[in-house]
Amino acid sequence: MALVKALGGTSDLLPEETRRWQLLETRARQTLELYGYQEIRTPLIEEAAVFARSLGEAAEIVTKQMYLFEDRGGRSVALRPEATASVVRAFIEHGLDKTARMSRFYYLGPMFRAERPQAGRRRQFHQLGVEVFGSASPYQDVEVIALLMRLLESLGLKMKNVMLMLNNLGCLDDRPVMLKKLKEYFLERQSDLCEDCKQRLEVNPLRILDCKNERCRGVAVGSMQWKDWLCHPCQGHFKIVRDTLDQMEIPYAPDPRLVRGLDYYTRTAFEVIYPGLGAQNAVGGGGRYDTLVALLGGAATPAIGFAIGLERVLMAQEADGLTAIDPMEPPQIFIATVSSAQILNGLKLAEQLRANGIAASANLEDRPLKRQIEQAAKANPSGTVLILGEDEVKQGVVMMKSLSTGQQTKEPLSEIVRKIKSGMQ
Ligand code: AMP
Repeated sequence: MALVKALGGTSDLLPEETRRWQLLETRARQTLELYGYQEIRTPLIEEAAVFARSLGEAAEIVTKQMYLFEDRGGRSVALRPEATASVVRAFIEHGLDKTARMSRFYYLGPMFRAERPQAGRRRQFHQLGVEVFGSASPYQDVEVIALLMRLLESLGLKMKNVMLMLNNLGCLDDRPVMLKKLKEYFLERQSDLCEDCKQRLEVNPLRILDCKNERCRGVAVGSMQWKDWLCHPCQGHFKIVRDTLDQMEIPYAPDPRLVRGLDYYTRTAFEVIYPGLGAQNAVGGGGRYDTLVALLGGAATPAIGFAIGLERVLMAQEADGLTAIDPMEPPQIFIATVSSAQILNGLKLAEQLRANGIAASANLEDRPLKRQIEQAAKANPSGTVLILGEDEVKQGVVMMKSLSTGQQTKEPLSEIVRKIKSGMQ
């Protein structure tokens, strides 16, 4: 019979790797709390309209990458390809657009996109993201960007290897002018564009700016001046963002091609690139989306957020030589049993230790004591073994053996927790 395997582009995380993820998550949560963010958890499935309406019907994520299915009630349901739309949906559904002055949320979890799997591109991947509702201030943009950089640093990335790219997408009032100017610009250079971009010229010329094709990228560089067409308030907002980043000594590079592929972004857009990662080198990105809450039926609320791809953070950690972050601590105590009659006592003792906050594992197999001790020493050469035999149990004692020194003492069972804890200090 053919073996059943995990779907392409999805992965199992075995304990050692899961440990790396847990550390990453713990560090991220600590940093987010410093900035006053609170976790929000939304469902992994949503009505497909949540994404189609927010990301734009024509967005590639919606047209090509969304896992879509009809549920038993005939509803069109999607596995979430990103979480901003879900968070905005929840924000409105729970009336926070009417009651909360400021909300700072973070989320962490799997996203799903039906992309061709390759290095750095998965079908199920994990994002850590933040969304801030209620501030239109350019200083909020800077604070969010500062958080993004602080997070990456706290997750072990070397900041000299990270590049922050920045752009100004203007407001929705600017969009028709911008699209018209871009269309004129690209029409004149149509013959140099790839087939997809020729289509984009008709549907949404903004998308030509982030085409990966080298020739299209070359053509797009010349469209740089387009941001001069933005309205004065949008230009003013961006100037404060840039000046403040300079004041805070957060380096960035302006990138007029950075449009982030989605309709909902307005004004500040940014992306963090880790050039060492190869073709899929974006570690995270985000931007302001001042019109999305109203678009989804809520009260007009300015907002900004970003998402980091955690698989890529781990890849960047490795590229930076950070492979050995805090290896898993093996259990402190191993409980060995002289005969199988003592297994139940061993199991109970292990539970008692764990209830007192001591990591322990116990022999549960019918195997010779010598082998048990050898294996315990292999797993944790500096650990401690407690040996339970019939006589010891009768006398209410246990043999305590240090694997590093070989030293062995007899200890009363009633004192064992205190003894181990005092040894741990
Ligand atoms: P996006 O909002 O699409 O720019 O996604 C934000 C971040 O998520 C990206 O910068 C990547 O780090 C990560 N990401 C997006 N798509 C994938 C994918 N298919 N596999 C792994 N990571 C991804």
